[in-house]
Parts: sequence; structure tokens; C-alpha cells
Amino acid sequence: MFRISTLFVAFGLLAACTSANAQEADQAWVTNPPEGLQTVVDAAVTAGNEATQIARGLTETTSPAIAQIETLNRQVERTGQISELLGDTIGKGLLALRELQKEQEAILAALSPEERSALEARSLAEASRAAVNRHVRSTTWVCPVAGEMQYRDSWGEPRSGGRTHDGIDIMARWRTPLVAPEPGTVVFRRDKIGGLSFNLTTANGDVWFGTHLSSYGNDGWVEAGTVVGYIGRSGNAVGNHVHFEYRPGGHPDNSVNPFPVVEAHCANGRTAPRSQEPSE
Ligand SMILES: [Zn+2]
Repeated sequence: MFRISTLFVAFGLLAACTSANAQEADQAWVTNPPEGLQTVVDAAVTAGNEATQIARGLTETTSPAIAQIETLNRQVERTGQISELLGDTIGKGLLALRELQKEQEAILAALSPEERSALEARSLAEASRAAVNRHVRSTTWVCPVAGEMQYRDSWGEPRSGGRTHDGIDIMARWRTPLVAPEPGTVVFRRDKIGGLSFNLTTANGDVWFGTHLSSYGNDGWVEAGTVVGYIGRSGNAVGNHVHFEYRPGGHPDNSVNPFPVVEAHCANGRTAPRSQEPSE
């Protein structure tokens, strides 16, 4: 469109120049024929030169604009092609994902209840291991005993009545403060075996459990480091200590060994073990 209209203007100007010079030439031819012949030739040459100059000027002005428009058109075309390609790729990816999901569902549906629960147990164990590692590396986790203490890895050891030890025992002096290792909600309860106990549930559903307390501290929502109770020997405890458990995800049956976490954050208060070790 742009190119066509400029060409019309160019031809129009060329025609105007040619006719003006031609009129002069006709008059010269009538008044003085021999000189007029020269004038006609001169006028034609002048008109031709002017037309060439005008055409050249117009070409110089319009060419960059046309080139720019052509570039833009090419870019638009390429963008269209790219977005079509992308749409196609994303679509194929989604289809592949859906296929995978169907395959997974089919595999799960084909499992026996035993296989299914074994798979769930394995994924829970993996998640728990990852949670323990996260707490070991944590820079905000606080040792639950605020004072001198002794502890060792006694997780899984046999206990009275055929039970196994599903926590570790941290021995400390009578009424040493017990603090929240993480922010969370503290609930107290009196337990037949453990005596005075606390449950701290964190925002992601993990539970830290402590028992054999001499008395309670703060309950409800607490920040890490808040006193939640005091070391004692309530319940079936032998000697002053806190029986400390970690249940990732809050599952009552999913108690995992908190020793690596305690080891990583309680070393400052750890002292040499006493001759008689308390238990339970
Ligand atoms: Zn214990």
C-alpha cells in the first residue's frame, strides 16, 4: 500500500515537470525554430534529470521504511511459528504426563493390600529419614534440655512388657527446664506409663513428644526455646530424665530415632555419663 501510493506521487511529479518544460519548449520552437530545437532537447534532458532525482529521493526515503515493515512482518510470522511449536510441545508433554499418571494408577490398582501397605511404609520411612536429616542440618532447631545433660543412642532397645524403646532418654538434674525445639502447639497429658507428658505439634504436622516431667510449663502455641516443662521422674521413670520421641507427620506409630538430631544440637550441654543410668 505504502509503496504503491509513493509510486503514484513519483509519477505525478514526473508528469508535472515534463509538461511544464514541454510548454516552454513549444513556445521557443514557434518564436525561434533553430534555437528552439536546442531548447526542446535541453528541456527534455532537464525534465528527465529532475524526474530521476525525484525518483531517487523517494526511493531513498521509502526503502528503509519498507525494509522495516518487511522485517516486522517476518518477525510476526516467526513468533507465530514459535508459539505454534511451543503449544504443540506443551500439549505433547501434558499427554505424556497423563499417560504416566494412568500407568501409575494401574500399577497401584494391581497391588495387593499387603504390597500397597509395604509401599506406603517404605515411602513413609524415606520421608522420615529426609525429615531427620533436615533437622540435623537445621540452624533454628533448639536442644529440648536447657542445661547439663547426658544421653546416648538407646532407640530400639528392649523395654518392660515386651516393648521396644521408641525414643531416647536425656538425663538431667531435677527441674532442668525443657524447651520447645521448634515452634508449634503444645498439649499436656498425664500418661499411665510416662507420667506427665507434652506433645508439641509443628506447623507441618510433625510431633515431638516428651515424658516423665516433674511439672508443666507453657502450652498452646509456643516459639522455639519456650519452656514447656521441667525434668522429673514421673510415671515409670528410673532417675530424672526426659524420654524424647520424634514422630514425623504426627503418625502415632511412626516414631523415628531422634538421636541424630539431639546429637547435632545438644552437644554443648552434654557431660560425662553417670555411673547409674536411668531408663524407660
Ligand atoms: Zn525412654
